Amino acid sequence: MKNLNITAKIRVCNYEELNSSEKNLINIAKDATLKAYAPYSRFQVGAAILLANNEIVTGNNQENAASPSGLCAERTALFYANSQFPDEAVDTIAVAAYTKGDFIDEPVTPCGACRQVILEAQNRYKHPVRIILYGKKTIYIIEKITDLLPLAFSEY
Ligand SMILES: [Zn+2]
Repeated sequence: MKNLNITAKIRVCNYEELNSSEKNLINIAKDATLKAYAPYSRFQVGAAILLANNEIVTGNNQENAASPSGLCAERTALFYANSQFPDEAVDTIAVAAYTKGDFIDEPVTPCGACRQVILEAQNRYKHPVRIILYGKKTIYIIEKITDLLPLAFSEY
């Protein structure tokens, strides 16, 4: 018997270290948090997606009194991108979160269901999906979703 050790490569940086395109996508994700519908959690998440054609699509969490009927920001944005631009690969997704009157200090990370949906986009377009997770103090950059979803289920 032997152990299988799984590692994830995550670049840890701050806002000032990013290039202008990365900063722009984060700022759009931050703006998207302000349009979230989150009356139950009061945790507003925004996602901004850069597509291969340079179009940027946003989404945010949409909650519901029957909580399973709501949807996370990442999937709201991804499904919107896929429905509006079905031929464009998803290049990068930036995620930010706002609660108690401010953006959070440390990055929020996608839930398991969103990771699975991001994986589908990566496989569908055969293009790595880069993920930028924003926190005021710390930003995580992950070059492909498989770093966040090791041993992923996939039909490919
Ligand atoms: Zn999610």
